[in-house]
Amino acid sequence: MGTRDDEYDYLFKVVLIGDSGVGKSNLLSRFTRNEFNLESKSTIGVEFATRSIQVDGKTIKAQIWDTAGQERYRAITNAYYRGAVGALLVYDIAKHITYENVERWLKELRDHADSNIVIMLVGNKSDLRHLRAVPTDEAKAFAEKNNLSFIETSALDSTNVETAFQNILTEIYKIVSQKQIRDSPDEEHSPGSSVKPIHVVPTNGDADSRKNKCCQ
Ligand code: GDP
Ligand code: MG
Repeated sequence: MGTRDDEYDYLFKVVLIGDSGVGKSNLLSRFTRNEFNLESKSTIGVEFATRSIQVDGKTIKAQIWDTAGQERYRAITNAYYRGAVGALLVYDIAKHITYENVERWLKELRDHADSNIVIMLVGNKSDLRHLRAVPTDEAKAFAEKNNLSFIETSALDSTNVETAFQNILTEIYKIVSQKQIRDSPDEEHSPGSSVKPIHVVPTNGDADSRKNKCCQ
């Protein structure tokens, strides 16, 4: 008998990407533990946290992966993207350069992630109104042009954090339940399921050994 936490209808892997310091780790801790940390701590290796939500009467377990600092060196491994069905591409509304770099992150996704991945552009730190450097309308227009959904959040005061994750998980659920996301080449791991396989593998420091194993 599984515990309640093990009972779910769908398991979705969602990755957090975006420049260092934009608030990815705090969005994750706010959503999964309702915690916020003022200090930016960077740990080594890939980490993820999970939380289950209800969508359309189904239990969706979100497995959300955090980069834990590799983005600083543009050294995110293929294992990070493997099996991901969603990505929150985060920038800081008070730091324009993090918004300019969204283009680079989109390219990174095109190169490394499944082409059907659902992408949500997230302008975080919306509480920093007096320091705003990226107009909402501009980001919204950019998102529309690139077929991304868009939201502004604050991990600090919790604004829209819940909504951001709810929206992307609902969007993924709609696509998966209509079977529009095709199985990846790792078919042996998803017997007859419409849910993409989730690979939980240790990735500490051995990026090179995995380089050629990605699902492209
Ligand atoms: P990461 O490098 O993208 O994981 O960013 P972190 O989550 O480590 O956050 C970087 C810094 O920004 C930390 O000092 C956080 O306290 C701060 N921060 C994160 N989210 C917010 C937010 O919504 N508003 C404000 N004002 N600061 C935030
Ligand atoms: Mg972080």
